[in-house]
Amino acid sequence: MSHPEQDAQAAVRDALRQMVGELKGRLRAQAPEMPPWVTVETEETDGEPSLEGATSLEAVREILGECTRCRLHEKRTKIVFGQGNRRARLMFIGEGPGADEDRQGLAFVGKAGQLLTRIIAAIGLSRDEVYIANIVKCRPPKNRDPQPDEIETCLPFLKQQIRVIRPEIICALGAPATRTLLKTKAPISRLRGRFYDLDGIPVMPTYHPAYLLRNPAEKRPVWEDMQAIQKMYGQTRNADGVL
Ligand code: SF4
Repeated sequence: MSHPEQDAQAAVRDALRQMVGELKGRLRAQAPEMPPWVTVETEETDGEPSLEGATSLEAVREILGECTRCRLHEKRTKIVFGQGNRRARLMFIGEGPGADEDRQGLAFVGKAGQLLTRIIAAIGLSRDEVYIANIVKCRPPKNRDPQPDEIETCLPFLKQQIRVIRPEIICALGAPATRTLLKTKAPISRLRGRFYDLDGIPVMPTYHPAYLLRNPAEKRPVWEDMQAIQKMYGQTRNADGVL
């Protein structure tokens, strides 16, 4: 090959390298910023894309797929991924789906869900403005608490949903959700009533609506917790000003 031909090929290679470099830079600049939340799974297994690379709820849902990663898949009817506003400033997190949720594939739609809807309305919001999810996405048999290995397997998906949504406030509903998020074994009765920091996100633990249905006297402390959330909601704004 003559010198001029070699020079021309080298020039094409250089130009291509430069274009690829610029393209990568542009893609990096466009990627949504992620808050430094809890570590998520980054390994790729069997060709599965990493959760950390999932920058939309759709991408997280796609990676979850028809999940059989833990034993809870055996008795479930539908996966309950979570639903609501993808830019919610306030996120509610319960422990796991119940019978109605399992049938419909939606979080908090049974009697406890209806109570949660009223609680959300009481602080001047609608379900469309918040995001609602659970620690595990499949119904534990007979509504038992999710077991540690089930939580460990499912939690990375919720963590990534939180990283994508970037809520300003999280309300943990009930003891299992609170203990999981705050990594504590303290009773919910002692934890509720104040905010805890979860890598920059204030978390308010409160009683689960299902518990309130059985113990209506506890509605008062929940109302106090909600008022604290309402106050903080009025004080905070997303860094980019998007509501
Ligand atoms: S609970 Fe979570 S990890 Fe377990 S099967 Fe359901 S989606 Fe998968």
